[in-house]
Amino acid sequence: MSGVVGIYGQERVASKLFYGLSSLQHRGQEGAGMTVSNGEELKRVKSKGLVMEVFSEEKLMDLAGSLGIGHVRYSTGGAFHEYNCEPLMAFARGESISLAYDGSLINSQILRTRLEEEGMMFQTTNDAEVILYLITRYYQGNIVEAIQKTASLIKGSYCVVLLLKDQLVAFRDHHGIRPLVLGQDEEGYIIASENAPIDIMGGEVLRDVQPGEILLIDQEGVQSYFMKEEAQERNCVFEYVYFARNDATLDGVNAYMFRRRTGEILWQEKPVEADLVIPVPDSGVPSAMGYAQESGIPLAEGLVKNRYVGRSFIKPTAKEREMSVKLKLNPLSHVVEGKDIVLLDDSIVRGTTSKNLIHRLKKAGARKVHLRVTSPPIANPCYYGIDTPSRSNLIAAQYKIEEIEEMIGADSLAFISLEGFEKAARKSLSKMCLACFNGDYPVDPVII
Ligand code: AMP
Ligand code: SF4
Repeated sequence: MSGVVGIYGQERVASKLFYGLSSLQHRGQEGAGMTVSNGEELKRVKSKGLVMEVFSEEKLMDLAGSLGIGHVRYSTGGAFHEYNCEPLMAFARGESISLAYDGSLINSQILRTRLEEEGMMFQTTNDAEVILYLITRYYQGNIVEAIQKTASLIKGSYCVVLLLKDQLVAFRDHHGIRPLVLGQDEEGYIIASENAPIDIMGGEVLRDVQPGEILLIDQEGVQSYFMKEEAQERNCVFEYVYFARNDATLDGVNAYMFRRRTGEILWQEKPVEADLVIPVPDSGVPSAMGYAQESGIPLAEGLVKNRYVGRSFIKPTAKEREMSVKLKLNPLSHVVEGKDIVLLDDSIVRGTTSKNLIHRLKKAGARKVHLRVTSPPIANPCYYGIDTPSRSNLIAAQYKIEEIEEMIGADSLAFISLEGFEKAARKSLSKMCLACFNGDYPVDPVII
C-alpha cells in the first residue's frame, strides 16, 4: 500500500511532486522518492523517511525537469530497507525507465524465482522490481505493448506510474483494486492515487483511470489503451472505510460521504440509548457525526489525539501496540465521566485499539461504552496491499461477535452489515472488493 503521483508538462515539476506527495503522506510514511526528466535524462532522489525529511530545497532545485513521478511507501510489519524505496530505475534498449507502484502481487515470489533461475539478479525485495524487470524485458520501443505483455503475467493489485525521458505512462490492474485518478491543470496532466494532489495544484479531476487501462501522456496529449484481460471493476472498499483522505472521491464514491452515511446507517441498524456519541479520531469523525445527527444524541470529543505518533497498528509486539494506542489517544475524563457513550470506530482488526480504549474510557469515568464499527468484521487477510495480519491474529476470524464484545469489554458491540455498506457507497457491491469481510477474493490468492 502506497501513494503514487505522476506529472507531465509542468515547470519545476519537482516542487509540484513534492506538494503532491505531501498530500498523500497518509498513504505511506516509511519512504519517499521521485524521478524527474528534463526531456534528455532521468534524475532520482529517494530515501527512508517522510516527504519533508527526504527532500530539501537543494535536492528539489537539483531535480530540474518538466515531467516526473513520485512515491510514498506504506509501513509494513517487516524490516524495511533503503533499497526498497521507490521509484525504481532500469535501462532498456539504451533508455532509462523509472517506475513507482501501489499494490501487491500475489504471484511475485513465483515470478521472482523463475526470473532468478533465468539469471536475473534482483536488487530489492520489492514487487515493483518484478514489474519493472518484465517491462524492460518486453520493451522493444513500444511501452504499451511491453505493459500489456507484463500484465498478462502479473496477478494481484497494481497501480503504476512510469517515466521515460519524454513520456509519462500510468496503468491500473483490470479489477481496479487500488485507486488512480487523472487530472489536469493549466500547464499539464497529473495522475495520482487520490485527487488531493490534483486539488492542491489548482487542477481539475478529469476521471478515474479505468480498470485495465494504460494511459500514455506525451506531446500528443493523453492516449488510452487497454490490457488484454477484460475489465471487472472491484475497487477496494477499505479505501472508503479507512485509508483514503476524507476529501477523496474514488471510482464514484466520496470517502467523507461514505463515512458519514455508515454512521447514519449504523444508527438505523443498531440503535442504542446513550448520552454522547464519541468518535475515534480521525476516521471515526464523519461516521460519529452521521450517527449523532440521525439519532439526535449529542456528538462530543472524548478522545484527544496526539498527531505526532506514528501508526500503532504495525508495531511488532502486542505490548508495543498497546503503548502506541495509549500514546496516540487519551480519554477526556471531564467529558465522559458518568456518561453512557457510543464510540464510533472504522474497524476492528486484532482488537487492540478497541479493548484499550474501552478500558481507559471506563477508567476515566464512562458508565457504559457501546462500540459501533463502520465496517463488517474483518475475518480474512488482504492480499492486495493493505497490511492486515494473518487469519490467526484477526479477532473476527477466531471469535463470534458476542465473544469479541466480552473480550474488549464493550457494553454492546455492533458492526455495519454488508447491505449497509452498499447503501453507504451508493454503488453495487459487485463492483467492490470486500474480500477481507466476506472472503470473496477478486484474484485467487492461492497461487497456481
Ligand atoms: P486493531 O487495534 O488491531 O483492532 O486495529 C484497528 C484500528 O487500526 C482501527 O482503529 C483502525 O483505524 C486502524 N486500522 C485498521 N486497518 C489498518 C491498516 N491496514 N493500517 C493501519 N491502521 C489500520
Ligand atoms: Fe481492500 Fe479488503 Fe479487498 Fe484488501 S481484501 S483490497 S482491504 S477490500
